[in-house]
Amino acid sequence: MRVVVQKFGGTSVASRDSRLAAVRHVERALSEGYRVVVVVSAMGRKGDPYATDTLLSALDDADCVDKRDLDILLSCGETISAVVFAGLLRSRGHAVSVFTGPQAGILTNNQHGDARILEVRPERLFEALRAGHVAVVTGFQGATLDGEITTLGRGGSDTTATALGVALGAEYVDIFTDVDGIMTADPRIVEDARRLHQVTYSEICNLAYQGAKVIHPRAVEIAMQKNIPIRVRSTHSDDEGTLVTSATAVLESSALTDRYVTGITQAAPFAQLTVAGDRLPHSRVFADTAQRGISLDFILVTPTRISYTVHERQLDEAVSVLRDLDLEPYVVPDCARVAVVGAGIAGVPGIMAKVVCALADEGIDILQSADSHTTIWCLVRRTHMEAAVRALHRAFELGR
Ligand code: ADP
Ligand code: MG
Repeated sequence: MRVVVQKFGGTSVASRDSRLAAVRHVERALSEGYRVVVVVSAMGRKGDPYATDTLLSALDDADCVDKRDLDILLSCGETISAVVFAGLLRSRGHAVSVFTGPQAGILTNNQHGDARILEVRPERLFEALRAGHVAVVTGFQGATLDGEITTLGRGGSDTTATALGVALGAEYVDIFTDVDGIMTADPRIVEDARRLHQVTYSEICNLAYQGAKVIHPRAVEIAMQKNIPIRVRSTHSDDEGTLVTSATAVLESSALTDRYVTGITQAAPFAQLTVAGDRLPHSRVFADTAQRGISLDFILVTPTRISYTVHERQLDEAVSVLRDLDLEPYVVPDCARVAVVGAGIAGVPGIMAKVVCALADEGIDILQSADSHTTIWCLVRRTHMEAAVRALHRAFELGR
């Protein structure tokens, strides 16, 4: 049995027209002899009636809702979407079975709101596929062994799709979305961003972890474990999109290019906190901050200074940790992180020079920088974020 998993994101299932475009991809796969598992996200984006953000906004006070209850609410968007999509498939003469995440056998840990998949038990899906049905599965949902409903966090439907792909031994996992594939930068910011035709799992993992939200990094990691190719494609065209595979597969194809930068990413908003003094309680600062579940970036430690960034939503909490230690931080709010990402940058001279010149030419201050063997990060003011991404994209000649 040849199986493909096709995941359709929020905008791809938002309107009847989009759903019809999506259905055509399902029908194409069926006509090529595949058994198809469809994974759907909630319909639309913020503001649309059944989008996840809209469900959240129905609550009088989201902070007062139990995490377990919240997952029961949040999982509704995908449920509505799956039944609507299945209806359309049926109206076109297809045999269909709808499954919630738990019914599809997705077992997770009990970390509500950001649960990890522990195991997939795909027997019911196999049964439906063997009977010649299209299986329509709600993305983003799972359940604990005790049957508690969980959700997989933002972008979780991507993870559902690749986890099912692995469990079913799929030939491909198709991630259908509103852009032509994975680009060298967010096309909403960079007009001449170029589509990447073939990339390795690790390149895309880096890009996704640094903020390219076109695919969730965990989804890529899961597909990588069993070498299941992912195709990131547009719902509204027949283009092949971006093929994400192993390094060996890329090497074997003729698509190998001498690329050292994969792309430019951005993420916001962050705040930078700095404390300085002769007797800083270094270990308390980091231990207490960690204990409150605050994650840090751009960490800089010297004997007389500690500086780091936190996500803006954790700023108040981070400041209060420091005040409890009698430290008054200097805070730069509204910052953004832009990154040059590419497995080939290690050891190449002149990369940082290019970054610094590109940003200086635009009058953009680098508030702080950091680097690893695959990434150079710059912290800039949020108001400079788009210009910084465009400047770096130009400097590394990534455009069309
Ligand atoms: P979906 O609802 O289909 O999951 P998402 O909004 O999660 O869609 O992801 C698609 C969006 O990702 C695009 O509209 C685009 O603006 C954004 N994006 C950010 N970085 C990139 C990139 N490097 N390549 C393509 N799209 C990107
Ligand atoms: Mg997404």
